[in-house]
Amino acid sequence: MTCALKNLKGCIPDQEKRRFHALGLHRPIALLASVLPTHLTLVDALCGDLDFEEGGTPVRLDRLLLGGDPVLVDSYGASLMGFAPAQIEHLRLAASLGVGSMDLAALDLREIGRPPAGMGSAPSSLARLAARVEARAACSACYGGLLHAMRRLEEEAALDRAPGPLHVGQGFQGVSGDGYGIGTCARGFLRHLDGCPPSAACILEFLRKHA
Ligand code: SF4
Repeated sequence: MTCALKNLKGCIPDQEKRRFHALGLHRPIALLASVLPTHLTLVDALCGDLDFEEGGTPVRLDRLLLGGDPVLVDSYGASLMGFAPAQIEHLRLAASLGVGSMDLAALDLREIGRPPAGMGSAPSSLARLAARVEARAACSACYGGLLHAMRRLEEEAALDRAPGPLHVGQGFQGVSGDGYGIGTCARGFLRHLDGCPPSAACILEFLRKHA
């Protein structure tokens, strides 16, 4: 996962960056964070990628994250991608070194502003995931979180068992049906997950439960 801690590699020379990879990345990333205190982190999560920092499967989230604790910022970022913070080795190591906290339950989260509805979309490279989704005026945060969760399920070789179709978006407000709804707007469906937006980690749990 490339977010606050891993991006500290930008503060070291190229030769050291190569050495980081030879040393297995996670431990050097955590150790660097322990000697290079970060006081404020701004994360560009406008359009990340499902799998790879250099792109290929872009997913809009239309978010900027700002926080003081880089481990907590990364932990929240992990949840937006469908990961539990403890799954990311350098987060576990950094937390054990006292760099910050992975405790999302203690997160004091404040949301400022929202992108308009209908921004959620999937690139053609993700058509196999989008085929399972029925979106109506979906926010990018909701649709993007759903794509991340489905990708994590695909990595577990469980996507074929995922329920569907999955309804998401403001266009489903007040609509009821015998299907699956993702997000508070689609709460009229028999099986639904509340949240506005629900995190990818929560969506993944919901999909696993109904797979
Ligand atoms: S639940 Fe929230 S984030 Fe999701 S589509 Fe509705 S308003 Fe947007």
